[in-house]
Amino acid sequence: MAKVLVTEALDPEGYLMLEQHFEVDRRDSTSEEELLEVVEQYDALMIKTYTRVSPAVIDRAKKLKIVARAGTGLDKVDLDYAREKGVVVKNTPDANTTSVAELVFGLMLSLSRNLVPAHNYLRNAEGWDRDRFIGFELATKQLAIVGFGNIGKKVARRAQAFEMEVTCYDPFVEAAAMAEHGVRKVEEVNELLNQADYVTVHVPLLDSTHHLLGADQFRSMKQTAIIVNTARGPVVDNRALVAALRNGDIAGAGLDVFEQEPPQDPELLKLDNLVMCPHIGAATHEALKKMTTQAAQAIIDHLG
Ligand code: NAD
Repeated sequence: MAKVLVTEALDPEGYLMLEQHFEVDRRDSTSEEELLEVVEQYDALMIKTYTRVSPAVIDRAKKLKIVARAGTGLDKVDLDYAREKGVVVKNTPDANTTSVAELVFGLMLSLSRNLVPAHNYLRNAEGWDRDRFIGFELATKQLAIVGFGNIGKKVARRAQAFEMEVTCYDPFVEAAAMAEHGVRKVEEVNELLNQADYVTVHVPLLDSTHHLLGADQFRSMKQTAIIVNTARGPVVDNRALVAALRNGDIAGAGLDVFEQEPPQDPELLKLDNLVMCPHIGAATHEALKKMTTQAAQAIIDHLG
């Protein structure tokens, strides 16, 4: 019977699926050193966030046929070396997209309606003056989406339910494909930004997307604009963002991801017009279950 190692704590449904087909060992976490010691016994690895599958691990793993990542990013797996050695690598790119798209609206609403300051105001028994928290509706506002992939599309659909006008910049998606989703394509990123009330980024981290939003972009935006980053920290120049929020170049920002995680810049941490989360975009029960069951299914399909 084939053997599978689940290297990190995961939603139990995935294990149950694997246990019907294979001998399964599970660990709550596995360092690279620990993986090197045990990997030669296994036909498949199911990994999540922290397990590193390096060339040394692949060399040691003589029986290994598949690595399934419960989640999207594959930066901890040496993909080229795995391909060279005939090890298939799978991920679950659509399992957490709804969760991320919903979080975008949590951040936009939180900033638009001053939810964090309003909550703190009551908690600190400061009074009952609603005029301090007058906010903005999302309806009729222009939402600029940067990146029209799995998450960008889901954000667009939800924005339409909020009666927002949706525009998008993605050089790799045709205007007609966006129009099918009721979205207007904008050819230049700066044209997109200077019209937007809200900007949300949904691009992968690549050389071409590193600091895609920086000082020049913030200066070209409306002073009332709010930006949201649930993609990858370095897509937004964090230092320039702090300056833009302090100078009033833009009104607010919602960040789930940071250039440095956890964020340590004291200037960033003390901003009142920033709402932050510790990279929780995919942290829902539904996404976790979909990630592990889809990764388990990939192993079952591959090992037969
Ligand atoms: P996707 O691959 O489906 O879509 C990415 C889109 O970006 C594609 O349509 C591509 O054409 C476009 N793109 C690439 N380069 C571009 C550029 N220079 N300018 C504009 N568009 C460009 O990816 P996705 O599943 O929608 O994920 C989007 C981001 O969300 C990724 O960075 C991913 O890592 C991140 N993510 C974060 C969390 C979280 O926990 N916060 C969870 C899942 C995914």
